[in-house]
Amino acid sequence: MAKHVFNAGPCLLPKVAVDNAIDALRDFKGTGVSLISTSHRSKAWVEVMDECRALWKELLDIPDTHEVLFLGSGASLEFLLVPMNYLEKKAGYLDTGVWAHKALKEAQGLGDAFAVASSADRNYSYIPKGYEIPADLDYFHITTNNTIYGTELREDIDCPVPLIADMSSDILSRRVDVSKYALIYGGAQKNAGPAGVAFAIVRKDSLGKVSRHIPTMLDYRVHIDKESMFNTPPVFSIFVMNETLKWLKSVGGVDAIHEADVRKAETLYAEIDRNDLFVGTAAVADRSIMNVCFVMAPGYEHLQDEFLNFATSRDIVGIKGHRSVGGFRASIYNACTQEDVEALVKCMRDFESRVCR
Ligand SMILES: *Cc1c(COP(=O)(O)O)cnc(C)c1O
Repeated sequence: MAKHVFNAGPCLLPKVAVDNAIDALRDFKGTGVSLISTSHRSKAWVEVMDECRALWKELLDIPDTHEVLFLGSGASLEFLLVPMNYLEKKAGYLDTGVWAHKALKEAQGLGDAFAVASSADRNYSYIPKGYEIPADLDYFHITTNNTIYGTELREDIDCPVPLIADMSSDILSRRVDVSKYALIYGGAQKNAGPAGVAFAIVRKDSLGKVSRHIPTMLDYRVHIDKESMFNTPPVFSIFVMNETLKWLKSVGGVDAIHEADVRKAETLYAEIDRNDLFVGTAAVADRSIMNVCFVMAPGYEHLQDEFLNFATSRDIVGIKGHRSVGGFRASIYNACTQEDVEALVKCMRDFESRVCR
């Protein structure tokens, strides 16, 4: 029986993307040569790069002021690229979780970087509000979806300074007003493709404003100039990302997937709120539509392992929570279906009848 995969990342990808990747590993576009043995300078490969870039632009309605980059780095290296390319004197960060904090730490090595607001006081279970963004910052950095805690900032905030966002785990789940951002970046492996490639959507005129020497590979301008092929790109990861974007377009694009994502999240949160055995950990107003975090309700904590085993017996994979939150986390990214979510809901109900008989 097929598994219901709720892994946080690397995560479930559309079946058609996986199938097409397997075919391309054997024979890339009928050339008789495997994708991973094909020159990245070949016409057949450059077409994939161009198509992938064009799909990003189309799906997110990215204006000409911005360029899309594919980097073989992961989001964690972009934590460093951000201050390298943007920090001259002072940078502010919204400290909403472990990833946000790691991003801040990288900047502190290069200048005066600090948390403008933080939700660390309640284990990052909410998004800070009512803070003021200082007008003298080189940039303000946000993490739109906090993968570990299941909180999400689902609006494009007004910001008096260049706005930079790590959107690793909710990119392509909603329409974004790209024009409000100097930079949007993230690892692909949560919603956009497999691990091994990171994306960056960068406003070209936001670069070139710092005085430091930027090492070549860390300079966004180099990657813009070389169309993400300064060095050998991660061809396999980009290929699968392209197939994932093609799938997204085929199911109606970002607006259609947003509707489906919201429906999945509402289905699951409704069960968490109804079922006395479970309780959600994120502030209701800040609940993520990508990562749904919950724990056993007070009095039922001893049933945690039993529920995990029960879920495993129902072919449910990957719902163990991150160690810093505990409990459970169901990651319901774009490729996860309503049927997967309903299988999890049924599992929670059946567990309830078993326990509360
Ligand atoms: C997973 C994740 C990262 C880290 O991504 P890597 O590609 O593994 O470096 C950073 N930020 C967020 C929000 C994430 O979910």
